[in-house]
Amino acid sequence: MRFALLNHERIEAIKGAKGVCPCCGNDLVAKCGEVYIHYWAHKKKCDDYWWENETEWHRNWKNKFPKEWQERIQYDESGEKHIADVKTSSGWTIEFQHSGIAREERDSRDYFYNKLIWIVDGTRRKTDIERFVSLFFNARTISNEPFILRILKSYPLERVRLNQEWGDSKSLVLFDFGKSEVRYFDEYSSNKDLWLIYPSKDRTYLTSFPKDSFIEMMNNTRSDEVYKMLLNPIQTKLIEEAEQEEKRIHTLAKPVRQRIAYIIGILRNRKEQEEWFDDFDIKVASKILNNYVEALIRQGYSDENIEGMLSNIQALTINTHKWTAWKDSMER
Ligand SMILES: [Zn+2]
Repeated sequence: MRFALLNHERIEAIKGAKGVCPCCGNDLVAKCGEVYIHYWAHKKKCDDYWWENETEWHRNWKNKFPKEWQERIQYDESGEKHIADVKTSSGWTIEFQHSGIAREERDSRDYFYNKLIWIVDGTRRKTDIERFVSLFFNARTISNEPFILRILKSYPLERVRLNQEWGDSKSLVLFDFGKSEVRYFDEYSSNKDLWLIYPSKDRTYLTSFPKDSFIEMMNNTRSDEVYKMLLNPIQTKLIEEAEQEEKRIHTLAKPVRQRIAYIIGILRNRKEQEEWFDDFDIKVASKILNNYVEALIRQGYSDENIEGMLSNIQALTINTHKWTAWKDSMER
């Protein structure tokens, strides 16, 4: 930690200095290496079991905020106390999390601090940024300003460990990939942003926020605004998109309708030509096709994508000579 208490004053670590932990009151020793940041270490472990050893990443982040905001002890009604990395003057806590954290512990911090923003180190595991960037190839742009992507539902989100670990936090969680470049085709490339994965019931969005603006706004007690700037556009898009999808489902685009009609035409011809198609039922076929298209719309696919997928179905239909086989593969 950066600050120890000595005669009720917050002091920084200098060689040979002594102090006590502002949270648990135990003795601290000053660690003052030549290369690494100077810090205070517990002789024994801190009673605040949430406390994690400070890395340079922690220190750099904390130093973006006034000293008086750093490492503040917070209490709840029961007397439980913890050291908040940063507590802003408008009552927000910012926690910088480098290590992995158990879900239960994360939940209890979410509840303890209430108004909490997590900044999570996305550079700790090498695979995290790779997996994160892989989301971009399975997403579609929803908005350029602010930059919002929607992740296609077919993407196995459980592969993204950061999302597994943080996706259901009730607080705002922002990922910091340090100096690593986050690139989205030619549209976007930056290493100056914080990233948010926003999962909702049946869709997941991605958005970014410039680090500089985040720091500037939090320093100027505009925290509520940060929240709104990040979440309002996504929530608006969410409602808009859901409405559009309903519309698209009820009035399918002309090329999509034509494809369906064409496939049904092939099936109908089959019935006349092939004995294995005797039990063909046009109502069932049309229901299967419509359900398929509806599912794709709900997964976030564009009409163009869907038309392409239907042309694959068309090819499959041409090569199928048995009605039950067609039904089976469509259901799959
Ligand atoms: Zn302590």
